[in-house]
Amino acid sequence: MEQELHRQRLHAAHGDCLLCDYLAVELKVEERIVCQNDDFVVLVPFWAVWPFETIVLPRRHHGALPNLDDDERDSLADILGRLNRRYDDLFATTFPYSMGLHQRPTDGADYPEWHLHGHFYPPLLRSATVRKFMVGYELLAQPQRDITPEEAAQRLRDGTGQQ
Ligand SMILES: [Zn+2]
Ligand SMILES: [Zn+2]
Repeated sequence: MEQELHRQRLHAAHGDCLLCDYLAVELKVEERIVCQNDDFVVLVPFWAVWPFETIVLPRRHHGALPNLDDDERDSLADILGRLNRRYDDLFATTFPYSMGLHQRPTDGADYPEWHLHGHFYPPLLRSATVRKFMVGYELLAQPQRDITPEEAAQRLRDGTGQQ
């Protein structure tokens, strides 16, 4: 969270929001988009190291859930449902995952640079039973990519679990 705040602040110093700008780039490139509706976009970020990791981004700049209007609240429920079905379809199983929302800090200060978003980190790699483990070099040095973000996004879009 501290790193994310730091990076968003650095970018905001140039006048724009980091994740608003990043979302605009991803919408233009399209290849890492998993699904979208009127108010939210789900994509595999280019920095993803966890297989089928995704980020959920509101199209409008909001810092926290209470800022969503009624339509956006419904849109969030819709996009989370769609993403869950895509995860379930991938290996034809009830897909496990860790998910969290990153909202602006709640110490009472203003954080205009913070862009609300969610992260999904699922543990499955190749099938309903083959999991991703961080091992060897990954524990001792740095994570290695098992699949590219572009391939992960395409397989989530297409529901194709087999490599
Ligand atoms: Zn923003
Ligand atoms: Zn985050």
